[in-house]
Amino acid sequence: MKAIVIAIDGYSSCGKSTIAKELSKILTYKYVDTGAMYRAVTLYFIQNKVDFKNIDQVMKALDNIHITFKINMQTQAQETFLNDENIENEIRVNPRVAGFVSDVSSISEVRRFLVKQQQVLGKERAIIMDGRDIGTVVFPDAELKLFITADPNVRAQRRFDELKEKGKETTFEEVLANLTKRDYIDSHREDSPLMKADDAIEIDNSNINHQEQLDLILKLVNEKLGLKA
Ligand code: C5P
Repeated sequence: MKAIVIAIDGYSSCGKSTIAKELSKILTYKYVDTGAMYRAVTLYFIQNKVDFKNIDQVMKALDNIHITFKINMQTQAQETFLNDENIENEIRVNPRVAGFVSDVSSISEVRRFLVKQQQVLGKERAIIMDGRDIGTVVFPDAELKLFITADPNVRAQRRFDELKEKGKETTFEEVLANLTKRDYIDSHREDSPLMKADDAIEIDNSNINHQEQLDLILKLVNEKLGLKA
């Protein structure tokens, strides 16, 4: 069967990674969470006190960053490793990572460093990648491009519930403020701003349930694969 690239872009906390993980299981495709890669770089910069504005320091730091993904055999979930250390939980719950990640991802040197790795990961196709610039920059030739959106309040509520479940003390207002700030920086940065590719299909999931969204996307995937739904 033909192997395709599925690019999923969109705003923060739209459920892109949940849908991408589910699709990767169904299709037995590789899944790459590019947001985790930007979060990993941000964590390294914070831990090592790298001055984001100093390009020499940034370049030196990038030389020491090695990001990998491994499957946790117990949970079957994919986890992110920074220089062989499992940082999956830290990059999701550390508010400093969420606070700085959009600034770090605006640095062109950081983007070039990660985009190159993302393109290598997708060389064989049969991959689902989610992020902000996958359909526009990383894989402009992706066979299926999805652009996911949802009402900011709906997204903030979902993210707030997720953090609460992980035992993280925060407020809905804080979550909404971070999400709004990231959306703004991500869509207004000079290098690879978040935008819908001309040939991407937009899905607003504010008012559809998870199964409806999955069914819709599977229909689109099957069309691209030349299969009947
Ligand atoms: O997807 P997630 O919310 O984990 O992404 C965290 C941040 O990483 C985004 O807000 C954005 O600043 C950055 N990012 C990016 N390009 C991507 C993926 C994520 O700039 N392809």
